[in-house]
Amino acid sequence: MNGLGKLFLCLLFALSAQAQKTYLHCGQLIDCRSGGIQQEMTIVVEGNEIVEVLKGYVGSASEGAIIDLRGATVMPGLTDMHVHIEGETGAGSYAERFRLNPADIALRATLYAEKTLMAGFTTVRDMGGTGVNVSLRDAIDRGYVKGPRIFTAEKSLASTGGHADPSNGVRKELMGDPGPAEGVINGVEDARKAVRQRYKNGADCIKITATGGVTSVSKNASGPHFTVEEIEAIVATANDYNFHVAAHAHGPEGMKRAVLAGVTTIEHGTMMTPEIMDLMIEKGTYLVPTISAGKYAISKVETPGFYPPIIIPKILEVVPFVDKTYPEAFKRGVKVAFGTDAGVAPHGDNAKEFEYMVAAGMDPMQAILSATVVPATILRVSDKAGTLEKGKWADIVAVPGNPLEDISVMSKVNFVMKGGVVYKAP
Ligand SMILES: [Zn+2]
Repeated sequence: MNGLGKLFLCLLFALSAQAQKTYLHCGQLIDCRSGGIQQEMTIVVEGNEIVEVLKGYVGSASEGAIIDLRGATVMPGLTDMHVHIEGETGAGSYAERFRLNPADIALRATLYAEKTLMAGFTTVRDMGGTGVNVSLRDAIDRGYVKGPRIFTAEKSLASTGGHADPSNGVRKELMGDPGPAEGVINGVEDARKAVRQRYKNGADCIKITATGGVTSVSKNASGPHFTVEEIEAIVATANDYNFHVAAHAHGPEGMKRAVLAGVTTIEHGTMMTPEIMDLMIEKGTYLVPTISAGKYAISKVETPGFYPPIIIPKILEVVPFVDKTYPEAFKRGVKVAFGTDAGVAPHGDNAKEFEYMVAAGMDPMQAILSATVVPATILRVSDKAGTLEKGKWADIVAVPGNPLEDISVMSKVNFVMKGGVVYKAP
C-alpha cells in the first residue's frame, strides 16, 4: 500500500473511532428532574451516555443517526425494584427445585430478562433466587444476553422454616439443615456470616424475609421471623459492603422490627399499620408495594393445581389488605419505590403496577418517579441513572400518548434504549 492509501485508512479509523452521535427527537419528554412534561426536545446520545438534552429538534442525518419519537413521550428507562428473574410461578413450578439444573434455570431466565427489557424496564432489583441471577447479571453486562441491568440479592435470607428457607415443604430426609451458606440464619453470628457469604457470591444487596410469606410451602404468612438483634446484625454487616437491605414483610410485628433495625425498603408491607407508616416516614424507609403480585395470586386462587393447597388460605388472608393498606400509605406520605414481584406475576407485565398505583391514589408523575429517580437513589446509582441529563447512562424508553393523562400507556412501551443500544423501536 502506498503512503496516500495508508493516510486514507488512518483517517477512516480515526473517524470511525469517534463514537457516532444519535439524536432522539422527543415529541414529549419527562426527564424526571424538571418536574413536568416538556415539548419538542432532543436527547443526544454518544456511546453509552447522554451528552446533551436540548430544546427543539436538533441534529441532522449528516451529523448522526436520527430516531423519530415525535409522536411519543420519552422518559428514563424504568426500574422494577422487586423481581425474581429466575422463575415464574405456575402449575408445576413448585416441583422445579427437584427437576431443574442451574443451566435450565439460566437458559429460561434469559427469556424473562428479554421480556422485562422489552417492557421498558432497563434495570431490575432481583429479590432472591438460587444464584443464577448473579450469572445472568454478568451475562447481560457482557452482552451475551439481552436484558435489564440487574442488581441482585442472590439468595434471600430467612430463619429456619422461614419464607426463604430452601427446604420448606420437603420430606425430612431431604430437608438437611441449611445454614448461612444457603441463606438460613439463627442468631447474630449466622446473620453476619450469611451477609458475608452473599458478598462472596457476588450479590449487590441483601434481602431478608422478615415475616412468613404467601407463596412458600409453609403455614403462616404473617408471623415475625427474625429478632431485632438479628436484623440489626444483618443491616450493620450489609453496610460494611455498601449493601442496602430489603425486607419482605406482610405482618406488622416483623415489619416493625425490620424498620426499627434500619432496613432500607419494606417489600409488600401488606398489613402495615398507621403506626408503622409513621415510623417509616420518620426513618425514611421505602415501601415497595408489589400490588401486581397480590392481584395476580388472587386471580389464580381457583385454578386447580396452580398453587399447592397450603398456599390458598394465605392468599385469602393477605390479599384483601392490598386495597386497604396502599391508599392509606400513599396518602400518609410513605416513600414508595416501584416493584411488582414479577415471577409471582408474569415477567413482562411489570408496567401494570403503574395502573394499580394510580388506582390506589398515587399521582401519575409520582408513580413514574417511583420507577426512575427513587430506585436510582436506593441502588446508589443516582450519578448514572434515574433522570435524563448529561453524563447519565443512555437508558431511555418511550410510550405512545401521555402517561400523565392515561397511565395505561406505560404498558405500551414502543422504544427501548439501554446503554445507548436500541432494543426496540417504533
Ligand atoms: Zn418477592
